Amino acid sequence: MQTPSFGGALNNNNSRTGADMLGIMMDKQLNIADILEYAAQYNTDAEIVTRQVEGGIHRYRYKDALLRTRQLANALRALGVHQGDRVATLAWNTYRHLELYYAVSGMGAVIHTVNPRLFAEQIIYIINHAEDKYVFVDLTFVPLLEAVQDHIPDVKGFVVMTDRAHMPNSSLSNLLCYEELLAAQSPHFDWPEFDEKTAAGLCYTSGTTGNPKGVMYSHRSTVLHAISSCRASAMNLGPLSRVLPVVPMFHVCAWGVPYSAPIAGSSILFPGAGMDGASLYALIDGEKATSLLGVPTVWLGLLNYIDSVKGNLDSVENVVIGGSAAPRSMMEKFHDKYGVFPIHAWGMTEMSPMGCLCVKTPFLMKADADTRAAIQSKQGRPVFGVEMKIVDDQDRELPHDGKTFGRLMVRGSWVASGYYKNDDRSAFRAGWFDTGDVSTIDADGYMQIVDRSKDVIKSGGEWISSIELENYAVGHPAVAEACVVGVPHPKWDERPLLLIVRKQGVPDAECSKEAIIGYLADKVARWWIPDDVVFVDALPHTATGKLLKTEVRAKFEKHYLDLAS
Ligand code: ADP
Repeated sequence: MQTPSFGGALNNNNSRTGADMLGIMMDKQLNIADILEYAAQYNTDAEIVTRQVEGGIHRYRYKDALLRTRQLANALRALGVHQGDRVATLAWNTYRHLELYYAVSGMGAVIHTVNPRLFAEQIIYIINHAEDKYVFVDLTFVPLLEAVQDHIPDVKGFVVMTDRAHMPNSSLSNLLCYEELLAAQSPHFDWPEFDEKTAAGLCYTSGTTGNPKGVMYSHRSTVLHAISSCRASAMNLGPLSRVLPVVPMFHVCAWGVPYSAPIAGSSILFPGAGMDGASLYALIDGEKATSLLGVPTVWLGLLNYIDSVKGNLDSVENVVIGGSAAPRSMMEKFHDKYGVFPIHAWGMTEMSPMGCLCVKTPFLMKADADTRAAIQSKQGRPVFGVEMKIVDDQDRELPHDGKTFGRLMVRGSWVASGYYKNDDRSAFRAGWFDTGDVSTIDADGYMQIVDRSKDVIKSGGEWISSIELENYAVGHPAVAEACVVGVPHPKWDERPLLLIVRKQGVPDAECSKEAIIGYLADKVARWWIPDDVVFVDALPHTATGKLLKTEVRAKFEKHYLDLAS
């Protein structure tokens, strides 16, 4: 491993002239542990509040987190964890998970956050693929590990993230107690210095087909992403913010909040296992949350709950909505009914995840409701540090006119340049990453997702955006959730099929096929209107809350062929 040289550039530079002239600045390497050291020293009144998995609320400050994190780093060393080793977590958003983020990466090892919502076979695959040495697990997920333990023989031990009183009876071998590990250690730890490109964190994309792919973040990418994402022109975090990341720490590091909030001096509200509307509302209301982050399905649950109890979101200034397209109806409800500014955002695991956001601008704040809604339905403009372009199938650049759409390509300091232990380089071309999304970019630089390239519907040689149809459909007052897929059609290759989950208690007649088609009629071109509407009790989702369209397509593959015969 390369050792950074502090002041080395200064010595080298004195003799240089011309094109190879270097700046004369310190070569201090970026390191994740420095974030917590900084927050502990200077962000002294910020709080970290957790709804504990064992019940009750836990609260402490960054300096308490730092001391425990150092104890944990000592404990990891005592367990035989070395630099570069992978340490897995199967855990909710809690203060203990935060400690693991810093202790594991800070000591030079790699934190691998496993998504417990993956299928058992995928969990087995990624733990083995990552060669995880230890797994830290919340009580909730102990049974899940018990079921797969025979298939992950190289894991040396399992640490349950609780105290002795709550330790479960478990068949897991080499079972350790988190609080006991910490209690045995000193709160002094000298963080090692290493190259900022050293691996720090590992996340696997859930992947709707094939095996999950590992994205390996570095200290440098993580710190740069954190500095950039907390700004007012991004996720808008500051010392007065009390940020509630509903997006899980097992899904792209809770969009980087565990790193960006301490830099910004914000308080963090960790929801633990309470992701339902009632639990979230209790935390938001009780702890006066100012900033929320999460995927649309979570907000659907929250808004329905607040409507039902006639609650309010008076403390909340903004909500970052990403992971899937935010429907206009949802953004209007946040904005008009609850006075919360919705920040539509787009990103992906390969981008740490932040790519672009639709933030407040003078124009947007003055615009009438329709203009504002039209802009906010776009995913936004890139933050500094991310470049975007759209290309055709030959990778030729397409115009930014808001109409032409193509494959969305990105590059930047926190964008992956390959997958971990994976030779497939098809998405990495000429220094750019092909996101697999199809989008437009307008003259002002706003990017709008049209579809995942594999979900776009090809009807008679023209393309139809499944996302746009879904967004309109959920605007119907009786619709809880909508899914549009392209289904083989004898005449048009593919035609859109709309699946709908009705809101509870809605009479069937109010939400009939005719009612829905009639509702869509003045919103999209006639040939976009789905040929059929199917009502279902529930829709399948991926481990990260996205619609699992492969499953829907497979189930309804013959729908139009059968109707035609
Ligand atoms: P996964 O959920 O598959 O593990 P990601 O979280 O990385 O992976 O998903 C990234 C994808 O989610 C993007 O490529 C895009 O298709 C979709 N996505 C993210 N944000 C938005 C958004 N605001 N609107 C539409 N699609 C989005």
